[in-house]
Amino acid sequence: MSAVPDRSRRALLLGRQAARTPLRPPWALAESEFVDACTGCGACVERCPEQVLVRGAGGYAVFDPRLGECTFCGDCVDACAPNALDRDVAAMPWHTLAVAGDACLPRHGVVCSSCRDACPERAIAFPLSTSVPTPVVDAARCNGCGACVGVCPVEAMAITHLEQA
Ligand code: SF4
Ligand code: SF4
Ligand code: SF4
Repeated sequence: MSAVPDRSRRALLLGRQAARTPLRPPWALAESEFVDACTGCGACVERCPEQVLVRGAGGYAVFDPRLGECTFCGDCVDACAPNALDRDVAAMPWHTLAVAGDACLPRHGVVCSSCRDACPERAIAFPLSTSVPTPVVDAARCNGCGACVGVCPVEAMAITHLEQA
């Protein structure tokens, strides 16, 4: 069953998003256009074979990398009748970057490289500059797929919009 997002909450949502824009499905329109176009039908959520999309605040579609990796198959885009997702809007589906937070185990002297091992783009390196190397993400290689997020044992890895990194 589809559910129309609560338009009365749009301004409140956009106000909150000024501080932190949610991660939308790949090839989403710019945020203000996306919340205008997305009807909250949930078709993208149902179609995603990786089950990494959910209906978030206000019913709008959200990518949750804690659930797994986006393979960029494009099924969500094909399912989106209102074209809130549009492969023509950008060559890259996202302008996002993985960032390791303070909980990252090597920062506390514990060896871990789960994120590097999961990254299909080989975007994560552990420079040997300290006794316990910590992860550094190469922004030129990272495509925001989220594969490094769910595998982190302490939920230290997150996907961030480039302008908010
Ligand atoms: S591109 Fe494919 S794997 Fe990625 S969110 Fe869309 S449907 Fe899921
Ligand atoms: S298919 Fe399109 S309109 Fe429907 S919830 Fe997903 S992004 Fe929104
Ligand atoms: S988001 Fe994907 S490409 Fe970027 S560092 Fe994580 S696993 Fe690698």
